[in-house]
Amino acid sequence: MANTYNPYDNMLQVLELAAQKLGLPQNEYEFIKYPERELKVAIQVVMDNGDVKFFEGYRVQHSSVRGPCKGGIRYHEEVDTDEVKALAAWMTFKCAVVNLPYGGAKGAVKVDPSLLSHGELERLTRRFTTAILPIIGPEKDIPAPDVNTNAEVMAWIMDTYSMLKGYAVPGVVTGKSIEIGGSLGRAKATGRGVSIVTGELLKYLNMPEKGARIVVQGMGNVGGVTATLLYEQGHTIIGVSDISGGYYNPEGLDIPAIHDYMSANNRSLEGYTATGVERISNQELLTRDCDVLIPCAMENQITGPIADSVRAKLIVEGANGPTTVEADEILNKKGVIILPDILSNAGGVVVSYFEWVQNIQELTWEEDQINETLKKIMIRSFGQVADIVKEHNVSFRIAAYMLAIDKLAKAKKIRGIFP
Ligand code: GLU
Repeated sequence: MANTYNPYDNMLQVLELAAQKLGLPQNEYEFIKYPERELKVAIQVVMDNGDVKFFEGYRVQHSSVRGPCKGGIRYHEEVDTDEVKALAAWMTFKCAVVNLPYGGAKGAVKVDPSLLSHGELERLTRRFTTAILPIIGPEKDIPAPDVNTNAEVMAWIMDTYSMLKGYAVPGVVTGKSIEIGGSLGRAKATGRGVSIVTGELLKYLNMPEKGARIVVQGMGNVGGVTATLLYEQGHTIIGVSDISGGYYNPEGLDIPAIHDYMSANNRSLEGYTATGVERISNQELLTRDCDVLIPCAMENQITGPIADSVRAKLIVEGANGPTTVEADEILNKKGVIILPDILSNAGGVVVSYFEWVQNIQELTWEEDQINETLKKIMIRSFGQVADIVKEHNVSFRIAAYMLAIDKLAKAKKIRGIFP
């Protein structure tokens, strides 16, 4: 995010390490370092008071080697090209790890959406869609929700695209409402996936399948669902947070009560109190003693200095890129096991894939079928990554990258170089 940290360099460093472990010659993975296409657009919006404002928008298509590009669109005041490039590359790896027939992409608009009215947000979204329209489409590049975007934003994109094409094209985006071709189970899919791999990791380490003391950073779509599902499975959620700060109770938080509070409080935790609940800073939350720390907020949260004080035994990355390379090294040395984002949070794009398949086949699936298939894919992918961990004596992160890079390099080799 801000300062000198560069998430794309972060990605390149991990890529190098994993490619070396695979023993891949440079020329077989060089292509992964270069995003296929980067589009930067100016978005002109008439504000409610009549002023005209410009916003910067991006869509980066990192790779289409294994299939159409796929990835979310985020609205955030601090995004830049390197961040979007890194996020796009992570989508490529994520889709390869869980074996979806997709490449990777990511989009962003540099805006703080909380400062815009509903109408301004809609005009911004529709204008952005028009600007990226030449490069998106169900067979080319399929956006989805990400930080600060949701089903409503997807509906505006779908409607704008469809109006300009002259017919309804539900498969142009995923994460839509059910009424316009969204999929059952999509909204909770990322959190569901995070909870499934957390359970698999505990099993893998012969740790009890209930009663783990868990800290979840972020109570948005990913963290909120993850906390609820793990709570329902009998784990003790001892800490949660949102932008207002951290809320901690070593005896365990009442997650349903917290959700009720947030529903009545504009989705914010600000002001939440209950017996035994201590209000702590975000940094303290990340460094409290726990079995599993699950960062589900933004990238670059667990930095070197924080990693030094992390007391969690396990980290499951619900967010994209929450751990810097420096922190990763420190944590590995300390023996902290980290399940990387490109495996842990893949549940969202897995169900996005189901949504897209339903759209292009004009079919609808039952929710049970969706959740069961998601579970099967997450467990299978966890197992494949764990096998590489054992075989090559590497971290889960390097193993997941190895799995992804191997698939990408093989696909590229078979396709060859055009022209
Ligand atoms: N934004 C989500 C992610 O980072 C979902 C992407 C998608 O469904 O295409 O994985």
